[in-house]
Amino acid sequence: MKKITNKTNKKGTIQKRVNLKVPTTQKMSYLRKPVKTISGVAPLAVMLPPRKCDHGACLYCPSLNAPQSYTPKSPAVLRAASLDYDPVRQVKTRLKMFEGMRHPTDKIELIIMGGTFLQYDSKFQYDSIKKCYDAFNGKKSKNLEDAKRMNETAKHRCVALCIETRPDKCSDSDIKRILEFGATRVELGVQAVDDEIYSKINRGHSVKDVVDATSRLKKAGFKIGYHLMPGLPGSNVKKDIKMFKKIFSDERFKPDQIKIYPCQVLKGAKLEDLYYSGGYVPYDKETVKGLLIKFLRLTPRYCRIMRIMREIPQSFLIAGVVNIDLRKDVEDEVRLTRAMKKIKEIRFREIGFALQSGIKIDNKIKLKMTSYKASGGKEIFIEAVNKDDILFGLLRLRIDKDGKKEFNAMVRELHVYGPALNLGENGGVNSMNHIQHKGLGKEMLQFAEQMAIKNKCKTMRIISGVGVREYYKKLGFSLDNEKIYMERHFI
Ligand code: SF4
Repeated sequence: MKKITNKTNKKGTIQKRVNLKVPTTQKMSYLRKPVKTISGVAPLAVMLPPRKCDHGACLYCPSLNAPQSYTPKSPAVLRAASLDYDPVRQVKTRLKMFEGMRHPTDKIELIIMGGTFLQYDSKFQYDSIKKCYDAFNGKKSKNLEDAKRMNETAKHRCVALCIETRPDKCSDSDIKRILEFGATRVELGVQAVDDEIYSKINRGHSVKDVVDATSRLKKAGFKIGYHLMPGLPGSNVKKDIKMFKKIFSDERFKPDQIKIYPCQVLKGAKLEDLYYSGGYVPYDKETVKGLLIKFLRLTPRYCRIMRIMREIPQSFLIAGVVNIDLRKDVEDEVRLTRAMKKIKEIRFREIGFALQSGIKIDNKIKLKMTSYKASGGKEIFIEAVNKDDILFGLLRLRIDKDGKKEFNAMVRELHVYGPALNLGENGGVNSMNHIQHKGLGKEMLQFAEQMAIKNKCKTMRIISGVGVREYYKKLGFSLDNEKIYMERHFI
């Protein structure tokens, strides 16, 4: 293994300089909607057919003739309904759309949306996932294992798979199943971390369920996203800020990603009655803006704010903030103030967005490490950044103690940012357009191995999308006996 020399500073550890030629400006005018693949992969959502959640409905969640929590006029629902919610047709249609927009489609992140997927009949779950792989492979397989194996070398490779679930539908057996699916990321509907609020909104689970699900998922190697909903009945601005701070200071939570959907009153939700009886008033635009600026500043550097605001068709929105592009307003406002330097969340620092804005970029990259405790283990967050803290790539390494002596190392995420490239392309050695496929992932992985050895681990495992297995094989990893993780033994 290549030797990496470490240099330690007072704040953390700043490691070796990475010898990588990267662009200093970017033009992506050849793409339609370039932001779709700006973070390195093509996200492809498959919507499930309508099904009610087992516990009933949360107070704010519309129960209409559509997948639970969506409206019949939501664009994703209209598309899926027109294809009879068939996973194969949905995947094929989206692939065609990406190709029509000239986006690379070699690396796909599959997202299963609508309702609580893990509460559907188990056979339906296996069948749906298999069909998605079949559609990527362009071939019908015998079973899920066969479909996954074919996808390892297929043209459209599933490099990440995301499942959305409730904190109380995330047991060890649920996790075993989603590992079999090839999932790498789980989004938990958390909304708030307060049992009184949960009871008011009929969530049907407790804060303890959030804590337990987070711990199980992290130990299994998943990247975890929380959905958060400020402005719920029973909350207020002060309480929302307090809960947000708790999520990142209490080691039982600490998600890798968040989505922030301020509470709105939607047609078909029970909250509608409370609103009309005067028992609930949603936050106005200025309140939400103020809160978002605060949240942006409070989010640690290891967390990505994936999305702010839900896309709700106007005709279904009874009260609440309507501006879908509020994030842009808030970020533009912040960029004009000194607060900008205090914003460390991942998306705000990503190279893809920096290139798109046309700013000049310093191309000297170093690896930086931040360690923190989370859910009883040690997280080592490795980033490739330049002197302006622009982010080119990241790796999440987790060290868990197994029994008295054994330590386990798990790579929960390896991601090189910048516009997506097809497999085998590197955009040219000195390309002014692309960061991917230039060896940055390998550099970060080698560094993670050194950290794992330093932390007394004898093996390193990686939760890998099926479509990334070939990449890890080339770097000396192999599929474990259960055919779930890629692994490498150090001794
Ligand atoms: S768990 Fe999610 S989908 Fe189910 S009712 Fe609650 S918000 Fe809606």
